[in-house]
Amino acid sequence: MEPGMEWIKIAPWDISCEGAEEETRDYRESVFSQGNGYLGMRGYRPDEASPNQAHRTTFYSGFYEYIRPGITDLVNQPDCSYTEIRLCGKPASELRVTKAKQSLSMKTGEASWQYMLEDGEGRKTQVEAFRFASMDNRRLVALRYRITPLNYEGTLELITGVDGGVENLPISDNQMQGNTEFVKFWTEHAFLPRTDGGVLSAKTRYSKRETAAGWCVCASGAATQQTPYAQGETYATTLTASLKQGQTWQVDKLCAVACWRDGEDPAPQAARLLNENEADYDALLKNNAVVWESIWRTADIRLDASDELQGAVRYNIYQLIASAPHGDEHASIGARGLMHGRYKGCYFWDTEVFMLPFFRDTLPDTAKSLLMYRYNTLNDAIESARRFSVKGARYSWMSSDTGFEQCETWDTGCCEIHITADIAYAVGKYALLSGDKAFMDEFGARILVETARYWFDRFSYCAPEDRYHLLFVKGPDEYCGVTSDNLYTVRLSKHNIALALQTLERLKKEQPGRYEALVQAAALLPEEQANWRDLLEKTVERFDEGRNLWVQDATFEQLEPLDIPGVRDTCKPLYYTLNFDRLQRYRVLKQPDVLMLMALLPEEFSQAEIESAWDYYEPITLHDSTLSFGMHALVAARLNKQAEAQGYFEKALYMDLKDVMQNTAREGIHTAALGAAWQALVYGYCGLSADPGAPCCTPRLPEFIRSAAFTVFRDGIWYDVTVNREGSCTVSKIQNSNPNSVFLRGV
Ligand code: BGC
Repeated sequence: MEPGMEWIKIAPWDISCEGAEEETRDYRESVFSQGNGYLGMRGYRPDEASPNQAHRTTFYSGFYEYIRPGITDLVNQPDCSYTEIRLCGKPASELRVTKAKQSLSMKTGEASWQYMLEDGEGRKTQVEAFRFASMDNRRLVALRYRITPLNYEGTLELITGVDGGVENLPISDNQMQGNTEFVKFWTEHAFLPRTDGGVLSAKTRYSKRETAAGWCVCASGAATQQTPYAQGETYATTLTASLKQGQTWQVDKLCAVACWRDGEDPAPQAARLLNENEADYDALLKNNAVVWESIWRTADIRLDASDELQGAVRYNIYQLIASAPHGDEHASIGARGLMHGRYKGCYFWDTEVFMLPFFRDTLPDTAKSLLMYRYNTLNDAIESARRFSVKGARYSWMSSDTGFEQCETWDTGCCEIHITADIAYAVGKYALLSGDKAFMDEFGARILVETARYWFDRFSYCAPEDRYHLLFVKGPDEYCGVTSDNLYTVRLSKHNIALALQTLERLKKEQPGRYEALVQAAALLPEEQANWRDLLEKTVERFDEGRNLWVQDATFEQLEPLDIPGVRDTCKPLYYTLNFDRLQRYRVLKQPDVLMLMALLPEEFSQAEIESAWDYYEPITLHDSTLSFGMHALVAARLNKQAEAQGYFEKALYMDLKDVMQNTAREGIHTAALGAAWQALVYGYCGLSADPGAPCCTPRLPEFIRSAAFTVFRDGIWYDVTVNREGSCTVSKIQNSNPNSVFLRGV
């Protein structure tokens, strides 16, 4: 995408665009991605072969395979959208595509494509395709084709089935390093035919992880002949019909998928799903829409604002929901969701800090399952700590189906340790705001204790100073190098320890039996809690009284200043221009660090301190991470800096819709930015406070939003909240005990 090209039309409930140029294909495929949390598909047109198979992807949550010892990649699954069209014997891929349009409905997750095919003899054919991943049964995908010869009559063929020959293109952590080596995971293909389709299964090369994708078809509008089709690892049905001019032929396809993660044998499972459902697109879409309606009941934000803004907010929410493994306690949300293989599909702090607040407040069952992923990988975090020769639990910077480190960049993987405290922060906030004490007592407490123990051992006690230093650490600002006493990490780790102490104290008082069980399970020694308290008093934090300024870390002020406009003229990250090693010696930030801390723990800082941190750090922040904009918008809105808040909010909100970083085509959708934009709107502009009990807002709506209405879950109760520009806020309790119940039925 060229900068400034704004050709995606954003309406309140859908996005659309015209044209199908090759240069914009990767971009469109990213933006029009669809998913239901179990699976995600890029927005490729089903009947358009991709020159880059690794971009025409279908990913399933939590389905990884090893690419080398210890390192996994999210596996590109057999393509159940596989379709080819032939008109009068000619493959459609050889014909001219004109009048192409594409859209995605946020209301139901349905995508549509309309286009005209023209051959050299002037024959014109109108094609319409529709597809959605069902929210009603998340292992179903439905497709519909409607084909009309406009000015001729002839024989048309539609070949549709499953392509089991798909490949992966693993992407290095290092953005600067390309890769052209494809990895073929799928072997041992087996095909089970049905009269109207079949089920294809395959296993991954190393771990023999099985997947199955089946389909069945149903045609109407013309007499249709069906014959089986097989070529290489592609199995399909060929549907043939002779059509008159103006006659519309409709083919519905139901796909059912299953994999080893579902607990049963995948192939019989997919076959059963096909037997239990029909290839009736309308009926499947209706069931899917009912579930989406129940999701939107709590997830929506209704704005009195421009249609474009309303649609962009819903787009962000849609993509968050499409990426989240609802109810799956062994998976989380990758930095590019299920929409791209960037970062090998790994999970970062992006989930707990950027995305979780949205789920916690609007779809709390999903928030809980996301945190359960961390509980279920706690033993791996304990083992990781042991491998790093520290006690307790150390969560990995990047993780996948296990909790073991997937980051292959040594300084980041070894030193960006704040993720452990970020997870504890999210556990604490979820339990506090949702009121889910049972989660805290049964699972969260153990996470807090093991992580507190990690921090105590990770700090270095300096006897002459009687101080604890946090050495060899990298904060959220990855341009700061490896440093000491990073304020963000120090404060968040103390928050982690304090949460552990409070939880232990409460359990001891309220549930002595459970307290004892926890002490035993964690083999907690009597002196440990005293040690933690000692650390809370004696960490090293730099505060410059003269400037009323919290300093980022021990070496920050020694870094060389950089003339930013002199070295930067594009929105491309600066590491494309300057070597990373050099960059780390300049006093510039990749993304907020002290301001990030202030966004998470505003109660620990005065307004004046936040103001001076803004004045100092904001001008030297490069926003070379897409996580940066939304957090700056949140802090700016809280400081009532309207112009700055608007600039940053728009960048976060339109990150992918307007290709702000010019990498949406190459990298897919930035899920943390989606969550950060939501937080900027709800916690920044609407001024929602992160306190338990009935929601309370101090609205600071900008001129372009007259009012906002949304739903919040607090202490086991749902509330509808409306705020407006005049600063008023109305809150009403929802009587229906669980407005998400229809959605939860299928989870
Ligand atoms: C950012 C990290 C982030 C990661 C994945 C990096 O560029 O600096 O903060 O977690 O991307 O989104």
